[in-house]
Amino acid sequence: MPVTDRLRPSSKERRQLRPLLRPLDELARGSDHLFAAHLAYDDARGIRQSLPKYLFAGPGDSRTYLRVGIFAGVHGDEESGVLAAVEFLVRLQDEPERARGYELFVYPVCNVDGYVENSRWTRNGLDLNREFWKGSAETEAQILERQLHKLHFNGIISLHSDDTSAGLYGFVKGHELTCHVLEPALEEAGRFLPRNFDKSIDNFEANNGIIERGYEGILTAPPEQNPKPFEIVFETPHHAPVDLQVAAHLAALQTILDRFKVLISEGQDI
Ligand SMILES: [Zn+2]
Repeated sequence: MPVTDRLRPSSKERRQLRPLLRPLDELARGSDHLFAAHLAYDDARGIRQSLPKYLFAGPGDSRTYLRVGIFAGVHGDEESGVLAAVEFLVRLQDEPERARGYELFVYPVCNVDGYVENSRWTRNGLDLNREFWKGSAETEAQILERQLHKLHFNGIISLHSDDTSAGLYGFVKGHELTCHVLEPALEEAGRFLPRNFDKSIDNFEANNGIIERGYEGILTAPPEQNPKPFEIVFETPHHAPVDLQVAAHLAALQTILDRFKVLISEGQDI
């Protein structure tokens, strides 16, 4: 059964978190690698909610783990990244070696209200991806900022989809070698969807689908974090078939992890 048939909620209008996450939660219960660690909070209406969070501890020496955060569903209507984050964990559970040396913290639905309502925005009508590191009152931004602060990631990967792009592209931030991690990821994901080679994407100068600038307020490491982690925002074309977007996200995620590890072993001091 295609990933999207298995995971996509039946209702087109309002989505539910539980059917999406139940398979993962069940896997986590019997796993030595996968752990559910959802973050409880009270939303603006005082209703108890939970921001989904999973830890996947790959095989290897836990003292030298590389710690990577994977974030999806920051924009609630961008379903392919959410599905890919969930499927990535399912695949890792089947084949833990794919995550050897890694401690992965996966937040598959960062904007819970937006996901449920199939909306880009937060419940307060804000773009969550413009609310970081500016003292935002948005609960999800505060929760995720605390995670970013506490966990001090070596790498941060955000999965998005863009309805104005006909192809794959990405933003790089943080460590100066990050473009060398994104380039092979775009190449690998290019087996499923075309890359966007435009000179300008989303009003930014782009080079072979790589943008080295970005918006203020996006989900990043704390500004004071040093050394800088590698940070990638990976974008699929929102209007492409969801299955292909999910496949592209999955290919990109695995390639980023593989490539990052090689750079470290080559002594690049990321
Ligand atoms: Zn987005």
